Amino acid sequence: MTDIYDSIIIGAGPAGLAAALYNARDRLKTVIVEKFYPGGQIINTDRIENYPGFENISGSDLIEKMKKQSESFGAEFKLGTEVANLAKLPDGNICVNCEKEKIVGRSLIIACGSDYRKLGVPGEDKFRNAGAGVSYCGTCDAPFFKGKNVVTVGGGNSAVEESLHVAKFAANTTLIHRRQEFRATKVLVEELMSKVNAPNSTFKLKLDSVVTAIEGDKKVEKVKIKNVNSGAEEYLSCDGVFIFVGMIPNTAFVKDFVDRTEAGFIKCDVGFLRTKVPGVFVAGDCRVAAAMQLATAVGDGVNAAMMTKQYLRDPAWWEKPISDALMPGEW
Ligand code: NAP
Repeated sequence: MTDIYDSIIIGAGPAGLAAALYNARDRLKTVIVEKFYPGGQIINTDRIENYPGFENISGSDLIEKMKKQSESFGAEFKLGTEVANLAKLPDGNICVNCEKEKIVGRSLIIACGSDYRKLGVPGEDKFRNAGAGVSYCGTCDAPFFKGKNVVTVGGGNSAVEESLHVAKFAANTTLIHRRQEFRATKVLVEELMSKVNAPNSTFKLKLDSVVTAIEGDKKVEKVKIKNVNSGAEEYLSCDGVFIFVGMIPNTAFVKDFVDRTEAGFIKCDVGFLRTKVPGVFVAGDCRVAAAMQLATAVGDGVNAAMMTKQYLRDPAWWEKPISDALMPGEW
């Protein structure tokens, strides 16, 4: 007979690994299913300086520690195992259908993460880490560009907020956007324009323009830019390129099982991380309203694990609205 897990976790990024640690320490029979290897996006980060308690650690070192820690309490790993789809069984258990096996559990935490949308231009992959010059996270990597010249790309809330953050460190910042209008909220655009129009501003805009190549030897040295109206091309020297053109959640495989937003983020009650399917939680960057930070993903994983414990102890808890459910300290 197939083993029935207490908790199945999909995704071995920070959210999934944190959930596994908590579930395993609660002596729940826990398995993490991961299509590649542990880490998620953070594995590509050379230096993490914004995870409390670690002044400087690489993504791969931190993930290795997280994996070992959850394994030491008994969490199992099924790596290289891609989930095809999910189903609720007649007995209430959840079936995770993979290519070569079916994994059955009493609860599920979906922590499958998001990928940064890429520009898809030459040089982007070659220089993809802050040390070489291409970054997708200003909050994480801006300090590495102190006193340097940087280019940022995009016109949404992330692009404007993150560009303003990057500009606090960089000597010169140029924001490149493919249109005249910004998708970002008005307040942010006003803040951006006041920065651009300030006396002796070090912040410039290049509108109606797209980056067509990122070039350099070992590190980024320049970007090639094309004006979308005239087709004119030019080079801009820079030490770094921050790309903020949206996120793509890795949630295609859950589309018929839980509710998602138009952009693919999994809907949940943000406090307890419950999806519409009893026993199925969501954690980290693949859910609605995620802050997309390492520390918040870890927090989500812990929260989802605590809620899993509550659900397994008392399945009727699932139906309680947040205000009527247990208060902190009663776990
Ligand atoms: P977004 O709103 O989808 O904006 C993506 C931006 O990138 C758009 O300006 C888009 O241009 C541009 N873009 C997309 N593909 C591109 C390409 N290939 N080349 C050049 N430019 C490209 O993404 P986001 O800014 O990451 O925000 C995601 C969600 O989080 C949004 O709902 C946002 O409101 C929310 N968010 C909120 C806050 C906040 O409230 N403080 C902060 C961050 C994010 P076009 O405009 O021309 O399409």
